[in-house]
Amino acid sequence: MMYKPLSEIRPGKELWKIKARVTRLWDAILLSSGELLSVDMILIDEEGTMVHGVINKAVMEKFKSLIQENNVYVISNVKVTPATKTYRPVENDKVVNFLTTTTMQKIKDIDEIPRYSFKFFNTDMLSKRINNDTYLSDVIGVASYIGPVEETKTQFGVSKIRDIVLLIDDQEIKVRLWNSKVDLVDAKSKSHVIVITSTTVKKFGKYSLSSTNATQVFIDLPIPEAMDVQNSICSIENVTKEIHTEGHLKGTLEEQMQYNRRTLEELNLILFDSSNEEKIFTVEATINAVNAKYGWYYISCSEDNCKKQLDKNYDHYFCKKCNKKAHPKTRYKIKIEISDSTASATSVLFDKEAQMLINESADFLISSINQDNMELPKSVEKICGQKLIFQFRLTEYNFRSCRPDYTVSRLFLPDVKSNPRIRTENVKEKKP
Ligand SMILES: [Zn+2]
Repeated sequence: MMYKPLSEIRPGKELWKIKARVTRLWDAILLSSGELLSVDMILIDEEGTMVHGVINKAVMEKFKSLIQENNVYVISNVKVTPATKTYRPVENDKVVNFLTTTTMQKIKDIDEIPRYSFKFFNTDMLSKRINNDTYLSDVIGVASYIGPVEETKTQFGVSKIRDIVLLIDDQEIKVRLWNSKVDLVDAKSKSHVIVITSTTVKKFGKYSLSSTNATQVFIDLPIPEAMDVQNSICSIENVTKEIHTEGHLKGTLEEQMQYNRRTLEELNLILFDSSNEEKIFTVEATINAVNAKYGWYYISCSEDNCKKQLDKNYDHYFCKKCNKKAHPKTRYKIKIEISDSTASATSVLFDKEAQMLINESADFLISSINQDNMELPKSVEKICGQKLIFQFRLTEYNFRSCRPDYTVSRLFLPDVKSNPRIRTENVKEKKP
């Protein structure tokens, strides 16, 4: 029997064969007694369908040693039942149950099945989940505060708690981690991009989220959503810090190109130097590759002083920053790998700087290519091999994570004589 996609399995007497990744795995513990009730999981298949899986106490011994998070399995003879009314960890009304006759076989990992999948709730969407216990909610944000581990009295006795604050869309959201979940973060997690899954949502004036048995915490995950969050902090910091640091704008263009010149190795080491107060450096490096995994553009608000990534709502785009319907504008956001003779690093080129290299606006480029073709456009690819002078502005994120992943704040072309800051006059724009 062939396996069925998770979207096609149905409750009833029939037993099913499925192929899926165990993307998350946790113990369901009864709060009052600490008793282990079941081993639970989120299964995901090639179509991206997620379903809650349960190994009940009766069959736990058989499967506990066989199943591991992240592995891909062919699982035969599972039974499907309707999901419980409350605390569903995914938006699916079915549950996959393991039986004594269920068998599972680990198979070779395949890229077609995503390693991670979440449904992130921004602050607008969270309002629909307040005191609504049908589903648990996943969130992503920057940890702006990590509290200490404390104790609190509940109806079940004394519980350990740790309060943290996540910045989500510039709003501070409190998340309380309970019991065994308090150790999923520590003081070092501050300023990192954090994913917290399966929380309950309440609002006492401000939002207050709580961990559940199903909650997992992921720090600095290599997923596009984490990169978006990271880029949004970079741009916030750029605006606030521009006012205070002007040394890099003084002097001739040649002097600006040399401002705080470092090798990449020196720059990477500065991230570990707690006495360092400088934020702006220049580096001469070569673009080795474009990391196309994250795409090369984003759909932004067309307002010049906004540029926020837009949400698509059915037939229109909405800007959360301007708080209105917005006209979309495609802007570049290109993740690149760079190196000099001493070290390598990753970096992000935003619209202005990318246009200097590509000489076409992202809007123009996207209208001139076949959009079904997922390959990187030639004009983007050809930026590889260029030796350039990068001005980097180090962010709090760089220092906290000690990760050489830099946002380009300005780009100089070493071999162009006039080298104006942006050669907009040459940039091809899309005809209206
Ligand atoms: Zn806007």
